[in-house]
Amino acid sequence: MDLRSARLYWEDSYLREFQADVIGREEGGLRLYLNRTAFYPESGGQPSDTGWINGVPVRRVFEEGERIAHLLEAPVPEDRVKGRIDWERRFDHMQQHSGQHLLSAVFLDLYGAPTVGFHLGAEVSTIDLALSSLSWRQAVRAEERANEVVVQNLPIRIEWDEAGATAELRRPVERPGPLRIVTIEGVDRVACGGTHVRATGEIGPIFVRKLDRAHGGVRVEFVCGLRAIRRARADHDALAAVARTLSVSLDRAPELVATQARMLEEAEKARRKLALELAERRGRELYAATAPAESEIRCHVERFRGKLDEELRAVAQGFCSGSRAVFLAIGSEPPALLLAVSPDGGWDAGRLLGEALAHVGGRGGGSARIAQGGAPDAAALEQAVARLAQVIPALAGALGRR
Ligand SMILES: [Zn+2]
Repeated sequence: MDLRSARLYWEDSYLREFQADVIGREEGGLRLYLNRTAFYPESGGQPSDTGWINGVPVRRVFEEGERIAHLLEAPVPEDRVKGRIDWERRFDHMQQHSGQHLLSAVFLDLYGAPTVGFHLGAEVSTIDLALSSLSWRQAVRAEERANEVVVQNLPIRIEWDEAGATAELRRPVERPGPLRIVTIEGVDRVACGGTHVRATGEIGPIFVRKLDRAHGGVRVEFVCGLRAIRRARADHDALAAVARTLSVSLDRAPELVATQARMLEEAEKARRKLALELAERRGRELYAATAPAESEIRCHVERFRGKLDEELRAVAQGFCSGSRAVFLAIGSEPPALLLAVSPDGGWDAGRLLGEALAHVGGRGGGSARIAQGGAPDAAALEQAVARLAQVIPALAGALGRR
């Protein structure tokens, strides 16, 4: 049985409602085949239409070879049906798709860049250009040119070329047979099976949003029509909120944000410097407050959780700026050690810590003055600590005190 559908959208993209006969059903009637349809099946980068058949929602429409399958939310029992497409969605797709034709023509004309890919997304659409690079200025120039063509309101015509003559088409066509040719008068001529608006004015504003590198070329993100208005509205409102927070005009906001970001960076640098100085001072005070052991060695043991940070290292260094000093920090989550020593004790922190951790399957190292590392788990860490306490007996006393 022939299950091919006449594609009504090829002849009239503006057809919203149609009558058709059911010529096939599958999956308990959830997959419906019609002798004619105005539903656009997903293809060529354009998503499918949705809508209703006899009031039952159509979720998706797709091609199965020559056939067009309509995926329904529930079976439709009648054999004679009335289809209605979701016009708001379809017209939006027609705007984005026609905008793509126009932008592709402009990119080719201005920069010799052929379009090698197109995707029409739910939020934004993209064109892939075979071009090594494209500057933002060039993209904005193309946007401006495309919008000039929009304002000229040039006709967009569909015609069938039965001979399949591909002369003067923007994109070469390999397959033989009749071609559906979409022409923007004086601007573009290309073979395409998609749905398009009838004049460039209906595309509405064209708004280029972003450039990315993709597949060795350039990916241009854009929106057209109401989408462009909604996007520009959201962008404007976001910028206006920033400007209000800073109590400046919209136009001055970017400059002020940049200035404030620089100031914040400098303030953060100064804060970090002071924090480290303070930490080092805390280490010195800690040293002064620590009673020496019988060996005249002053030891301090500190527990910490999480990442071993610069401030803890500064405390350790401050502590070990005193004579005969040993500072050990024991961390959990992850299990880690920091060992710092004063230069006059004859110890090598890097070697001692490295050996103790290597013995329990961990690793660590550093300079003779300060070293750090990690152990596989808490038990291994305690073993490494015990090993250090054997080498530096004064540590044992400090560990016992804590
Ligand atoms: Zn098209």
